[in-house]
Amino acid sequence: MNARPSVDHPENTEVQLLCARYVVPVVPAECILKNHCVVIRGDVILDLLPEIDASRQYPGALRVDLSRHVLMPGLINMHTHSPMTLLRGIADDIELQEWLKSYIWPVEQTFVSESFVRDGTRLAIAEMLRCGTTCFNENYFFPETIAETAAEAGIRACIGIPVIDVATNWAGSADECIEKGMFIIEHVEKNLTTFSLSPHAPYTVDDAALKRIAVVSEALDLPVHMHVLESAWEIQHSLQVHGCRPLQRLERLGLMTPRLLAVHMTQCSRSDFGLLKASGANVVHCPQSNLKLANGICPVSDLIAESVNVVIGTDGAASNNNLDILSEAQTAALLAKGATGDALVLAAPRVLEMLTIKAAEALGIQHLTGSVEKGKQADLTALDLHYPESQPVYNVISQLIYAASSRQFTDTWVAGRRLLDEGRLTSLDIDSVMQSTAQWQDKISNRITPQMPV
Ligand SMILES: [Zn+2]
Repeated sequence: MNARPSVDHPENTEVQLLCARYVVPVVPAECILKNHCVVIRGDVILDLLPEIDASRQYPGALRVDLSRHVLMPGLINMHTHSPMTLLRGIADDIELQEWLKSYIWPVEQTFVSESFVRDGTRLAIAEMLRCGTTCFNENYFFPETIAETAAEAGIRACIGIPVIDVATNWAGSADECIEKGMFIIEHVEKNLTTFSLSPHAPYTVDDAALKRIAVVSEALDLPVHMHVLESAWEIQHSLQVHGCRPLQRLERLGLMTPRLLAVHMTQCSRSDFGLLKASGANVVHCPQSNLKLANGICPVSDLIAESVNVVIGTDGAASNNNLDILSEAQTAALLAKGATGDALVLAAPRVLEMLTIKAAEALGIQHLTGSVEKGKQADLTALDLHYPESQPVYNVISQLIYAASSRQFTDTWVAGRRLLDEGRLTSLDIDSVMQSTAQWQDKISNRITPQMPV
């Protein structure tokens, strides 16, 4: 690897002052601090204080100049399938069931392997770090490889154990998925990694496997990360096969709990609202994927009004088609207003919380990350405001949510390690990532051109 040596590797316990024009700590809500420094040592935030005081209290500290920047907690992408970056743009403008059955699943059957997953995950992490992301909530095959790749790159991740009732290149059945997953959870290095159980969707996992997942989730206190109520087709299928709506079935099987991360939820009825509220389950909103596959719109503001914790994910790059979580948040903020006719819903500070502290709460890691507070892990990102499109700055949170672009992120730290350093990735060799991606493009395009119903 030709990665640049990092001056602030976690073993380096030198105090560093990250001195920014603005610091938005997220907790307390809506707080904006001018000319403040976040003081870090090793992997931890030691302090947050005015620059003048920081220079006095830490005279010999290494100073990182962010005088054009806003510094904030690293963003958390609450739903993705990282290796699917290698399928970005493979099939667009198609509805969900045809997209899955005619394109995605056949290509996955042919190509998904440990090396596909490793290379696709590297590509995804390169993209996410450049978009200010310090943690991602993952669901894909070969989770052990994703965990290993994330750990090598130094990014925080919640790795889903994928469970699906069809044979895949990773496991032959839902039971085998769970068995392999249990082994992985027990044996993989946990430093920046946590795990979830990730049944694909109500229509691809049977009752017995879902019941088993509910038991394991409770016993090990693991989140259950699942596509739910994604499309109208899913509701019809559930009514026909199970005689009830999907959430009623999940309730019967013991899965409606605060550990559930219900992804998409575009088809919520009033009865679903009641189940969500009573259970404390979380909803992961993926507006761009939902819009692109024409699956509907998650009623985010209604859910928040019912005290449901709603957070934001990009989904995989095959249905988005990027992992830009800031752009996703901008879409969420605008869509909620357009869908309800109410300009007051999903105000910018609330959207920033959904990208940070609310996401950390959904994953059960709010004691570690999600805000800039003393004692938390130094998961941070800095965005350069010195762009015409970001000036003037009357309210920096408004600039972030309604005007900024992910191109403006210059630096990203995970657990104190500067993984994006003035725009350069320090733990990934970008040339090698681009090279392996080009090789996969050649292999996959040879497969899809002649045989697929394009
Ligand atoms: Zn998904």
